[in-house]
Amino acid sequence: MTSRVVLATRNAGKVREMQSLLAPLGWTVLNQADLDIPSAPEDGLTFLENALAKARHACLLSGLPAIADDSGLVVDALGGAPGIQSARFAGENADDDANNRHLLQALGSGLSRRAHFYCVLVYLEHARHPAPTVAVGRWSGHLRTTPAGSGGFGYDPLFQPDGLTCTSAELTATEKNTLSHRGQACRMLLDMLEKR
Ligand code: IMP
Repeated sequence: MTSRVVLATRNAGKVREMQSLLAPLGWTVLNQADLDIPSAPEDGLTFLENALAKARHACLLSGLPAIADDSGLVVDALGGAPGIQSARFAGENADDDANNRHLLQALGSGLSRRAHFYCVLVYLEHARHPAPTVAVGRWSGHLRTTPAGSGGFGYDPLFQPDGLTCTSAELTATEKNTLSHRGQACRMLLDMLEKR
């Protein structure tokens, strides 16, 4: 029988991305929204704790193995902020523009602009399994003082990856996937699952 796994997200874009990524495994990838599973509370202090909590929640309510992710921007000079609050840095219902403006204000003019995108992906066999499979991707660079580019999402217009002269919002989707924290973590997870 084909292995089945539930993706611990209600985001349709992430489901599409992960379905094509996991295609080589030949698994049936189910969507948390299709199974009527509510979102998990995100009350951890790290990407890892949140990804693990989301995976455990999805396993518990579906009775199936689950894959979950958590990601965000870590700015050295801000003690790691916005971090797990990346989507809500400027407030609970803040959009990307508001979050970017808030970040520029927080940095001002005197601080180091070194920053890293992180993505943690967790595969959990069942809710009480002691050994989750964990993949981490990190993409380092610095934050510009003004936004540039219209691709990507979130903080991409401010983020200039190391080794490039443009922001991640000026890359094509394929170029970004090749380099990004999410692309790195996805390839690492796939590799680990194939070797299990
Ligand atoms: P989530 O993993 O979709 O919950 O993303 C958390 C937040 O981190 C997003 O809302 C963005 O603000 C930020 N973020 C994560 N990955 C990226 C990226 O690839 N580019 C820009 N912002 C990102």
